[in-house]
Amino acid sequence: MWRPACPEVPWDAMNKKTVRDVDVKGKTVLLRVDFNVPFEKGTTRISDDGRIRAGLPTIDYLRQQGAKVIVCSHLGRPRGKPVEELRMRPVAERLGELLGTPVAYVRECVGPEVVRHARQLEPGQVLVLENPRFYPEEEQNAPSFAKELASLAQVYVNDAFAAAHRAHASTEGVAHYLPAVAGLLMEKEVDVLGRVLEKPKRPLVAVLGGAKVSDKIAVLDHLLELVDAMLVGGGMAATFLVAQGRSVGSSLVEPERVALTAELARRARERGVELLLPRDVVVAERLEPGTRHCTVPVDGAIEDGWAIADIGPQTADQFAARIAQAGTVVWNGPLGVFEVPPFDQGTLAIARAMATCKGTTVVGGGSTAEAVESMGMADKMTHVSTGGGASLEFLEGKVLPGVAALLDK
Ligand code: ADP
Ligand code: MG
Repeated sequence: MWRPACPEVPWDAMNKKTVRDVDVKGKTVLLRVDFNVPFEKGTTRISDDGRIRAGLPTIDYLRQQGAKVIVCSHLGRPRGKPVEELRMRPVAERLGELLGTPVAYVRECVGPEVVRHARQLEPGQVLVLENPRFYPEEEQNAPSFAKELASLAQVYVNDAFAAAHRAHASTEGVAHYLPAVAGLLMEKEVDVLGRVLEKPKRPLVAVLGGAKVSDKIAVLDHLLELVDAMLVGGGMAATFLVAQGRSVGSSLVEPERVALTAELARRARERGVELLLPRDVVVAERLEPGTRHCTVPVDGAIEDGWAIADIGPQTADQFAARIAQAGTVVWNGPLGVFEVPPFDQGTLAIARAMATCKGTTVVGGGSTAEAVESMGMADKMTHVSTGGGASLEFLEGKVLPGVAALLDK
């Protein structure tokens, strides 16, 4: 067993008030969720209602407590004006089906019609507002708009972790005008991800992949200070390999990042962090289905015309062995072009290793969560973040405005 590079530090549990810390009986609650669901192309049929399901525990809790619940979520990118295909009606309908109770829907977020609907609510009833991004004031975080939203309710609950990295009126602004607390999903996300950064069970292992180093600089930089081992795959491994003097053929390399990756490697050595790069890779002529491919060691030169598409089986075994020994594993970024089999094998091997790891296993990032879900491995992890970009910013050590705005405990 190798020795962790970092000492244990005391864990400061989530220091924000949650829905359990406030009395909502008979009160009107403005609940911000992220129900930004995908639709089947060109229809209003929801293709994956996972985000709505993830919000149910908080809604159930509020209804059981006798709150009147006003649900607010953005949908897509209408850029400050109404877009018919991005109305919240289908989401309200699906929410009603999942709750087993009729859910009201109003085609606006503010104004007399909304006030009228809100006043009619009885304890336990749910009203869904229109997409707030139909109003330019939402993304501008205009105080007037936030205030008007706030005037509908007596308590604000934010359960939209996936939108918490945005300081918009419905995610941040409104918290200045109402008692503001976290919902149950928000609490879980901040608790699990926070524990990874602040009091992980060691050894703490980070697995990082994805397309480019430049997308992940801040994550690499922050995690390098915290982890005991860092396992790097994906497209960005090519830039690391070039920094080690290897030739990577036609792989995507970011020449302006080579010096930075060399610096990261130097810092890892200095801190006693084990930095593992691929020792073998799957290379392909194109990153497309049915293309010619083969597995090669990284110490022979990869020929021009061939690009790294995945980590190789030896690397997958080595990474899996490290994962098996970990107290905590945090994973962001697919290890290969998982959308194009057989270049999903490295990502699958990592998912399997995490599934059998006895430690805490946390998955962050939109594509990584998608990969784990499509492989049917999501329920084998301690936590798959619903956060997408927000989970990445959290792992970068950034303060998320939607979280910061909530009441301290
Ligand atoms: P996340 O959304 O989880 O943060 P990223 O968006 O950073 O993850 O990375 C996902 C993308 O990285 C995927 O589309 C995948 O195809 C791509 N990728 C992984 N490995 C490679 C590779 N070797 N070459 C090119 N792209 C890659
Ligand atoms: Mg992504």
